[in-house]
Amino acid sequence: MSFKSDTCVDRNNKPLTSYSSKSEADDGIRYIKDTYRKDMVLYKCSSCSYYHLAPAGRHTPLAEKRCSCFDRNGSGKDLYSSKASAEMRAKILSAENHIKLTVYKCPEERGYHLSKA
Ligand SMILES: [Zn+2]
Ligand SMILES: [Zn+2]
Repeated sequence: MSFKSDTCVDRNNKPLTSYSSKSEADDGIRYIKDTYRKDMVLYKCSSCSYYHLAPAGRHTPLAEKRCSCFDRNGSGKDLYSSKASAEMRAKILSAENHIKLTVYKCPEERGYHLSKA
């Protein structure tokens, strides 16, 4: 294991860029907007307590259907179309981030979400 083991990853398992302050994250948003023409939003990460960026649009490869559930950071929750894929993802994330995740059924019944135990 590397010294810094708290690196968060996105849903493609790529390390997320961590910003220590909101203004740093804002600079990152501007840079991505200028360079890639992509709109990003910042959110405070609950596992590493740094700021990360996420796409502003609700484009997600996880499920075609979306629900309107939000996590405590105000970003749309990842939706898994089957319980099995949600459980598999929970296993990976739990191992990587040393957190315990549980699978629960979306209240809107559009799939499954992960929640911190
Ligand atoms: Zn994080
Ligand atoms: Zn939902």
